[in-house]
Amino acid sequence: MYQDEEEIKNLLERVSELYLCEYCEKKKLTVQCERCGASVCSHQECSILFPHHNNSVLAICKQCQNLYNQEIKVYIDTEKISNIKKKARTIYFKQKEKE
Ligand SMILES: [Zn+2]
Ligand SMILES: [Zn+2]
Repeated sequence: MYQDEEEIKNLLERVSELYLCEYCEKKKLTVQCERCGASVCSHQECSILFPHHNNSVLAICKQCQNLYNQEIKVYIDTEKISNIKKKARTIYFKQKEKE
């Protein structure tokens, strides 16, 4: 699915833990969603993963992914991951204000 899928797989083995995925509810290698902290596995139905600095993986869970589905594809470059985070935070706070 991703060009660097193989790289992500290798990284994932290093940083993930065997834990219950909050989406598919199976015990799998999971990582924490960068935004909400949910434990998600690497299945594409559960999360989207990016290679991150220092050989780590940046994971965004399915739910958070929906919040900025469009932008995330544009900013797949790891150099711009921090921009995604800023954007995600902005979206999050905007929604909070509406509540
Ligand atoms: Zn899962
Ligand atoms: Zn999340």
